[in-house]
Amino acid sequence: MPADAKGTNRIARAGWLRAAVLGANDGILSTSSLVLGVAAAHATSGSIVVAGMAGLVAGSMSMAAGEYVSVQSQADSEQAELERERAELQVDDKGEHQELAAIYVARGLNPSLAKQVAEQLMAHDALGAHARDELGISEALRARPIQAALASAGSFAVGAAMSLGVTALAPTTVVIPLVAGTALVFLALLGGVAARAGGASVVTGATRVTLWGALAMALTTAVGTLFGTAP
Ligand SMILES: [Zn+2]
Repeated sequence: MPADAKGTNRIARAGWLRAAVLGANDGILSTSSLVLGVAAAHATSGSIVVAGMAGLVAGSMSMAAGEYVSVQSQADSEQAELERERAELQVDDKGEHQELAAIYVARGLNPSLAKQVAEQLMAHDALGAHARDELGISEALRARPIQAALASAGSFAVGAAMSLGVTALAPTTVVIPLVAGTALVFLALLGGVAARAGGASVVTGATRVTLWGALAMALTTAVGTLFGTAP
């Protein structure tokens, strides 16, 4: 594999891992917060688990829908740009050659080499060359709505299932400390993984997400306590 393709793959993989970790973070945090709120309101263990399950399904679907809409609109605009480029290539072949050569000159090639590079790349794949070097659309980084939606929903569901599993297994008396404690551990681990994948400080990444997690869970627990009925 050429060095350039390796680099692109690494960037694509880091982005993918980051999205998966963020989805799992969301799943852990929203499900455990939901469970804590309901548990603090003195719900029965059955209804606590049902609330957690509903949260898993609702959250996964909401992630899928949101991600699909956002990535699809990006894909639509990429498609429109490609169509426009295709039309320009048909009506103004000479102008498009000059345009591409000018881009390479701006990147540091001398004019005669730029002209040669533009000619050879356009002879090979004119639309591909313009997509990549003029529009910045490459095959590796192309918007893929269905994959993005499935990845978001799936990673959210995995995170939610972790908190839900703890909820279902925990004895009723310790459900609150156990769910909160394990959620913080999960969040810290994932925050560390995400930071490491992105080349940032593991401790900072883990601390940041853990603090926000603690805040969210404290708040929902407080709301549950406030509005809950006495046992
Ligand atoms: Zn062009």
